[in-house]
Amino acid sequence: MASRLGGIKRRDNFNGKETFRVQCPNCKKHKAVMGYAPTGNTYVLTCPVDGCTLNGVVLHDLIKRCGGTQMFDAWRKARWTSTYAEDWLPIKSKGKQMP
Ligand SMILES: [Zn+2]
Repeated sequence: MASRLGGIKRRDNFNGKETFRVQCPNCKKHKAVMGYAPTGNTYVLTCPVDGCTLNGVVLHDLIKRCGGTQMFDAWRKARWTSTYAEDWLPIKSKGKQMP
C-alpha cells in the first residue's frame, strides 16, 4: 500500500517503528505519513495538509476506501499467511486506478 501511494521508507522512527512518507490518496500531496499505531496492531495514515480529512485513518479502512475490494482481499489473505508488517508492503495493485 505504501509503495502504491509512492511511499518512501524513512529512517526516522514513529513510536519505535518505521514510517513511510506516502502520497495522500485524498489530497494527492506527498505529505502523508504512514506509521505504526501502538494501539491497534495496524498502521495509520496521517495527512498534515490543512483541510485534508485523512487524519489518523487506519490502513484497514484506507484499503477499503481507496484500494477496492480486490486489493482488500489480497491484503487480507497476505496478512493471514505471514507477518503483517512485511506482507502488506509488497502488495502492488496494478490496473486499478484510484477513484
Ligand atoms: Zn491529504
